[in-house]
Amino acid sequence: MQYEFKNKKITVMGLGLFGGGVGVAQFLARQGARVTVTDLRNAAELSSSIKQLEGLPISYKLGGHSEEDFTNTDMVVVNPAVPKNSKFIQIARNNHIQIDTEMNIFFKLCPAPIIGITGSNGKSTTTTLTGKILEETQRRTWIGGNIGKSLLGYLEEMKPADIVVLELSSFQLEELNKTGKSPHISIVTNISPNHLDRHADMDEYIQAKKAIILHQNFTDYVVLNYDDQELRKWEKDCKGRVLWYSANHTLANGAFVKSNDIVISMNGQNTVIPCVSRVKIPGMHNLQNILAASCAAYLAGARKQHIEKAITTFTGLEHRLEFVREVNGVKYYNDSKATTPKSSIAAITAFHAQVILIAGGYDKGSSFEEFTGVCAQHTKAVVLIGKTAEKIKELILKKKGSGETPSIFMLITFEEAFRQANALAKAGDVVLLSPACASYDMFLNYEERGRKFKDMVQAL
Ligand code: ADP
Repeated sequence: MQYEFKNKKITVMGLGLFGGGVGVAQFLARQGARVTVTDLRNAAELSSSIKQLEGLPISYKLGGHSEEDFTNTDMVVVNPAVPKNSKFIQIARNNHIQIDTEMNIFFKLCPAPIIGITGSNGKSTTTTLTGKILEETQRRTWIGGNIGKSLLGYLEEMKPADIVVLELSSFQLEELNKTGKSPHISIVTNISPNHLDRHADMDEYIQAKKAIILHQNFTDYVVLNYDDQELRKWEKDCKGRVLWYSANHTLANGAFVKSNDIVISMNGQNTVIPCVSRVKIPGMHNLQNILAASCAAYLAGARKQHIEKAITTFTGLEHRLEFVREVNGVKYYNDSKATTPKSSIAAITAFHAQVILIAGGYDKGSSFEEFTGVCAQHTKAVVLIGKTAEKIKELILKKKGSGETPSIFMLITFEEAFRQANALAKAGDVVLLSPACASYDMFLNYEERGRKFKDMVQAL
């Protein structure tokens, strides 16, 4: 190991609720470090994470940070959610304290090759699918990262012959860039504006994502979405071999769809998998996720039978265009994870049926121009809640002109919105929760929002 943690004083800044903070605190405490966890949130807000650390010798400084933990320490491990301009990180830097992240430590210590997946949308779905295909092979597969599972605690069990599949956020990649490391096989699903409340501008966001290819070498691979205009420009910056995937074009090197076949074309050889009609996850965007996952898994040793089995049995992840139930001919879908306009566009256009959309929420600074155009064209009604409701309503009204649909409703509570959507639904319609916005103005997170929706559907 390049690190020595035993008896070292280490501050973990930002415990969070998504697994990364818990993973690193557990790992460091078990390695014999003297760990202090500090977070702006208080113990009640962090209770689910703290529970997972019970029994470990960890001290806590919650509800705020104190300078001492950033001066009198050997190392600070920063959660990627901590803003870059944090005064406390600056203090640690001024005191020449080593600063690292959970993901950077993992990359430096991982003995197995890594498949890394990023993009503005489709990361978790593509990560899970890639992992599921590889699990069909004999190779031991580890799935984690931004998807909500730290793999640090499994390092000792990992062998060089295993394979690791990691979802990587732009924040994790921005930090990883400093280590000069990239995954052996990288997938980028697409690039559209996201997190512009945290990244200075679109260029900075794209640069952060690019860390996934910048430190590859010529034996590595990058799998890029040919249907994405921004990614088409990336080839010149790639150090590894580039493979493309597309739901619309036939390609010489990569993966594409040809009527009912998924075709993987590599080194002049085609692997043809007749399976599109048996895929269970709806929408063109999911077909793109399948192509990306198939291509990367193929590079890591998966073959036709493994890919076919995994992609025809995968029914999708919770809160991602998740089918909840059919009641009186109305189908209900929970797409609470759609926190960006682009992801909601993918969801709305996945249906041929009439869509009654429930949308709106916390304002991340996204542009709703394209999204509201799609609402105006492809929905029967839009029921709006949250901070962004007014903005979205104005834009839809502008786009629909004097057209009858969609009808627009503004409601205060989520329950009222659900009742309204339900009252409008006729047999054959789809009621879709796909908010295009984060949930923080009304809920703890997108999971709480999605579960509430499902509870209301089940109670019908
Ligand atoms: P991420 O991890 O990047 O947030 P997920 O796989 O969790 O992505 O999917 C989140 C939402 O994004 C889904 O609910 C769906 O609406 C949308 N989505 C999924 N894949 C894609 C894609 N390839 N392109 C556009 N939107 C997508």
